Amino acid sequence: MVAETDTPEAGRDFIRDIIANDRAQGRVQTIVTRFPPEPNGYLHIGHAKSICLNFGVAAEFSGHCHLRFDDTNPTREEQEFIDAIARDVRWLGFDWGDNLFHASDYFEQLYTWAEHLVTTGHAYIDDLSPEDMRAARGTLTEPGRNSPFRDRPPAENLALFRAMRAGEFPNGARVLRAKIDMAAGNMTMRDPVLYRILHATHPRTGNIWCIYPTYDYAHGQSDAIEGITHSLCTLEFEDHRPLYDWLLDRLPIPSRPRQYEFARLNIAGLVLSKRVLTRLVAGSHVRGWDDPRMPTLAGLRRRGVPPSAVREFIKRVGMARANSVVDPAMLDFTIREELNRTAPRRMAVLRPLKVIIDNYPEAQAETLDAINHPDDPAQGTRPVTFARELWVERDDFMEDPPKKFFRLSPGREVRLRYAYFITCREVIKNPAGEVIALHCTYDPETKGGNAPDGRRVQATLHWAAAADAVPAEIRLYNPLFTRPDPGADGDVFADLNPDSLETLQAAMLEPALATLPEGDVVQFERQGYFTPDPDSSPGALVFNRTVGLRDTWAKESGRNAPPAVGRVRG
Ligand code: ATP
Ligand code: MG
Repeated sequence: MVAETDTPEAGRDFIRDIIANDRAQGRVQTIVTRFPPEPNGYLHIGHAKSICLNFGVAAEFSGHCHLRFDDTNPTREEQEFIDAIARDVRWLGFDWGDNLFHASDYFEQLYTWAEHLVTTGHAYIDDLSPEDMRAARGTLTEPGRNSPFRDRPPAENLALFRAMRAGEFPNGARVLRAKIDMAAGNMTMRDPVLYRILHATHPRTGNIWCIYPTYDYAHGQSDAIEGITHSLCTLEFEDHRPLYDWLLDRLPIPSRPRQYEFARLNIAGLVLSKRVLTRLVAGSHVRGWDDPRMPTLAGLRRRGVPPSAVREFIKRVGMARANSVVDPAMLDFTIREELNRTAPRRMAVLRPLKVIIDNYPEAQAETLDAINHPDDPAQGTRPVTFARELWVERDDFMEDPPKKFFRLSPGREVRLRYAYFITCREVIKNPAGEVIALHCTYDPETKGGNAPDGRRVQATLHWAAAADAVPAEIRLYNPLFTRPDPGADGDVFADLNPDSLETLQAAMLEPALATLPEGDVVQFERQGYFTPDPDSSPGALVFNRTVGLRDTWAKESGRNAPPAVGRVRG
């Protein structure tokens, strides 16, 4: 038996160690975390890391995790994004219960505390233009210069701040700044802006405000208001932690949160930046935020990725403190591993080629049993029709095959899955010389896929009966960018993959697929995992490829690949 530790999660990563230790030392009782998205776009898989961490530790330590919209910039935020974020967090499997908050809920309190900073001499109104402010800020090697407005008396600052709030100045005319140190080595501490003037309508507070707090000012104070114990954020906020603490130390806050930083999730070949994703959508480079090529949670969902696979992937990535780049094949591997376990098998011919079984009677058809899942007998079987005319995969035939090609070719015998052995007898071509049909014969003795005389075939093909197959459009997704570091040469759009979407217009599916509900994922045998797209309708089916069957990452990293069901040599 393994000895019980203080908490089963201690030792899993440095964040959980900190939390377990804080609890053991009695520094905190109930753990409260938060996920604080800015509603200026859809969530991407990078956000999933933060969501899994914040909601995960709250659950493991019997605490709470708040969903807080960091809605402090009304010029970029929209209700559509607020709704999408809530939907995607829920889809990922997390529940904030009653703990739904908005930074805008605290605007009045934040303003009152800002007046407190003004009256205690810790903040001042600066009239410098944005350009002059930038110029006076200095550089990493040079200190900044004090603003000529830095020593305004508190009473004058207070009057100006109130006039700002009352709407007496245009955008950009003045800001409220913390009075810290223009020579600080940490640039964040060089009198950061706390409030700016923005005459804009806010999705929640309408036109009540024309000044809005900055992230740096709103965040820590919102944490304190909500009683957050551990404010977990990504490494780029490490430099902001001294400011986070500086503000909390000077305000009459009801609780004292602490900030901890972890590494952002980066995945080679994916762009995890809402700014770029926004431009992909706005420039119609993709079909929307939920385009299956997008690294958004909505895109992953539409592609058929199960939320449990996203959670498992995040768990495997781990919670390191140093930045790194994850191989996208690891994500595919995790998705495939889960779908291999759960997805029912179906037959679908993506690029159909007609096969005519010459010795099968024209009027005849029979029903065969196809196994729904090779490792899960509980999924049972389904009937598939076998008849004289069938579809097979165009790639499964070669007129003049190389040595290692074991599938159909003139004179070659193969197995049709769940059905019979067939032998190719004649190749039919159109005037352009393209193969348009194959005449074959079948061996009635091989029903079910075995020959009584023990002869073997080296390939098993999937197929669909021409009489009852249903046509469908198939969307195959390839990487959206052509290189692992999109934009490294400056223009991320120059690295877009022109072949990121490949559409097959005339696939032929077994009839069971016509009624597959949206959200269900199946394995098309030998092809990969597929799910109906929301564009799909009864007469016009559309399927997305979630992920193919190939396991390059498994091979490279020496992991056990899931069994490759239905794969053939050749
Ligand atoms: P983006 O750079 O895509 O605009 P952001 O950090 O501005 O992302 P927010 O809405 O502010 O987006 O993010 C909410 C939370 O998600 C923050 O705590 C942020 O640290 C975290 N987060 C964002 N991107 C990642 C990522 N790639 N990996 C881990 N956490 C992330
Ligand atoms: Mg942000």
